[in-house]
Amino acid sequence: MSYNVDKKGYYGQFGGAYIPEMLYPNVEELRKSYLEISEDSEFKKEFDYLLKHYVGRPSPLYFAKRLSEKYGAKIYLKREDLNHTGAHKINNTIGQILLAQRLGKKRIIAETGAGQHGVATATVCALMGMECIVYMGAVDIERQQPNVKRMQMLGAKVVAAESGSKTLKDATNEAIRDWINNPTDTHYIIGSVVGPHPYPDMVARFQSVISEEIKWQLMEHEGRDYPDKVIACVGGGSNAAGAFYHFLDNENVELIAAEPAGLGINSGKTAATTKKGKPGVLHAAKTLLMQTEDGQVVEPYSISAGLDYPGIGPMHAHLFDSGRGNFEYVTDEDALKACFEVSKLEGIIPALETAHAFAVLKNLELKKEDVVVINLSGRGDKDLGTLMKYI
Ligand SMILES: *Cc1c(COP(=O)(O)O)cnc(C)c1O
Repeated sequence: MSYNVDKKGYYGQFGGAYIPEMLYPNVEELRKSYLEISEDSEFKKEFDYLLKHYVGRPSPLYFAKRLSEKYGAKIYLKREDLNHTGAHKINNTIGQILLAQRLGKKRIIAETGAGQHGVATATVCALMGMECIVYMGAVDIERQQPNVKRMQMLGAKVVAAESGSKTLKDATNEAIRDWINNPTDTHYIIGSVVGPHPYPDMVARFQSVISEEIKWQLMEHEGRDYPDKVIACVGGGSNAAGAFYHFLDNENVELIAAEPAGLGINSGKTAATTKKGKPGVLHAAKTLLMQTEDGQVVEPYSISAGLDYPGIGPMHAHLFDSGRGNFEYVTDEDALKACFEVSKLEGIIPALETAHAFAVLKNLELKKEDVVVINLSGRGDKDLGTLMKYI
């Protein structure tokens, strides 16, 4: 079985491009050109250059000694938290802005929920001197003021989405409306492995630098280029896709995805999509999503804003469906405990998203010689407001 995308843009039964006709020219232009452009040697040279000198890659693969002692395995941390802007999201926005330039685009739009993807997009637009418009739900603008100010400082225009629940899905609708109205000069930078084909595959490829580095870094540390287990948290699934990518077909590697259970899987306040979701179409892709009996999207909940998404990328829906991925569910409470534990044991304050990946450790049966890589997707500075209540 293949776990990567097929020629038609599907992962098993999931994926595809379920788009309104008016969006067809935009998505079709991307589909026809993304592989040719991103595999071009000049493109690769510029992408690698910026990842090295602007983002600060390669990110270290750090042997976490005290965490390893506590859990009885060899635990390595892939330090995406040390990237410029503090998380993995910049890998994707660098790739997409270079692509947009080669397509001759002048204007960049993006959607954002907590603001992290908006900041990563505003950053690369400043870097390239391109116009940047970020759509954000009015409620999220209220809740996430520091990121709104960051985006503005970077020169982006933040536009409030005032419809529906005034959160991420409404911001996404506004961005899509903008794109339909500006088909020739605008590129839409989606922030995770979601949306219509080719977005999931394109974003996974840009993020795959994570597992590409893990391979040679493990070779240096352990004398072999794969771990026994890779653990990553999953919102839409981009950091997990990047950490899994080069191990998808290596069945020696267990792929472990940590999904947010929120207040508990059956509490009605959760974002555990693979547990509570059913197949359907969300943001123009067939995938698993949380929905009511009559197909309305259910509002997700998680303590971590970056995991608060009602769906999951099609790659992960397929990893779940096929049994290739091991999906674990982590409550807010367990994520918080893990966040404090990692801070004290390793001197690293992880993002609350990332803390979900650490919280899985206690559920695993580990052997001393097991090599485990945890993708440390981002740093926790942004979560201090939430964490403060628990210190
Ligand atoms: C946005 C974010 C996530 C969740 O997004 P994915 O696409 O699932 O990776 C996870 N961790 C951090 C630090 C984030 O900022």
